[in-house]
Amino acid sequence: MSAEVISGKEMAATIREEVKERVTDLKASGLVPGLAVVLLGEDPASQAYVRSKNKAATEAGIHSRQITLPEDTPEDELLGVVAGLNADPDIHGILVQLPLPNQIDEAKVLLAIDPSKDVDGFHPINVGRLATGDPDAPAPCTPAGIIQMLLRTGNDPSGKNAVVVGRSNIVGRPMAALLLRKARGGNATVTVAHSRTPDLGAVTRLADIVIVAIGQPDLIRADMVKPGAVVIDVGMNRVEDDTRERGHRLTGDVAYDEVSEVASAITPVPGGVGPMTIAMLLSNTVDAAVRSAAAEE
Ligand code: NDP
Repeated sequence: MSAEVISGKEMAATIREEVKERVTDLKASGLVPGLAVVLLGEDPASQAYVRSKNKAATEAGIHSRQITLPEDTPEDELLGVVAGLNADPDIHGILVQLPLPNQIDEAKVLLAIDPSKDVDGFHPINVGRLATGDPDAPAPCTPAGIIQMLLRTGNDPSGKNAVVVGRSNIVGRPMAALLLRKARGGNATVTVAHSRTPDLGAVTRLADIVIVAIGQPDLIRADMVKPGAVVIDVGMNRVEDDTRERGHRLTGDVAYDEVSEVASAITPVPGGVGPMTIAMLLSNTVDAAVRSAAAEE
């Protein structure tokens, strides 16, 4: 069997087009959704992420503001910037690019963002809302994108056995919470595996849907996947490759070629989950703008 390839690139382009149409309609009624992205320092990877988020927002017609602060910005100053954005009526979504430098307490910054402007869904109030099954809680962008990938390819998780490998706060845990939710895109029977799971293959082989977010190249092999399962690879690992001009390539956590022979559908890396994350950030920003307008009425 050769698996259907789920192209995040194509699906993200569709979602970005849908967001653009929603923004056009909102603008006609006088509401311009606004997103602020705050970056500390000059880490090239973070700079690239922030640039692409701003570009995507602008292309969708969202008012986009990028705030770049020096690496050694004191915590108080960053909290002041967040407070200013919280109070700014033109901004509906605030994203502080992680990781933050050592002098900053990340938890304190996430807590300072107005939960109604928290488009990353990392504020403890929103984490709690998601964990308690609130269907309106803003969902973290990467797992929200994965739910869209499943739904839009006819792989509704409802009633399925889903195994999430990885329990990070940005992917694994919110992924499990979304799959468990009594709402569209949820209603799965969910198992979460991690580095202390003794026989990972025995767990993943039970899954109709396997979602892997661990950060280790090719860890999931063909013999760990049930024939016909849907495999979503979140991993983004840079591995050396002398055949490439750059000397490296990007690869996922799943041994793509061999797992493709067993799975019914699989996401590639790159071009799979990655592009969906930004599309969902735009969608979350528009949702936040709509909610803020409704709250004012
Ligand atoms: P973390 O490092 O925060 O978490 C990794 C998780 O994997 C942990 O829960 C860890 O277990 C678990 N793990 C590690 N090794 C194993 C193993 N051998 N067997 C089973 N579980 C294991 O990573 P993130 O969740 O932040 O990211 C995971 C991957 O996804 C990375 O490659 C990252 O680059 C990528 N990513 C991609 C995104 C995208 O948009 N495409 C967005 C975010 C991340 P334990 O808790 O026990 O340590």
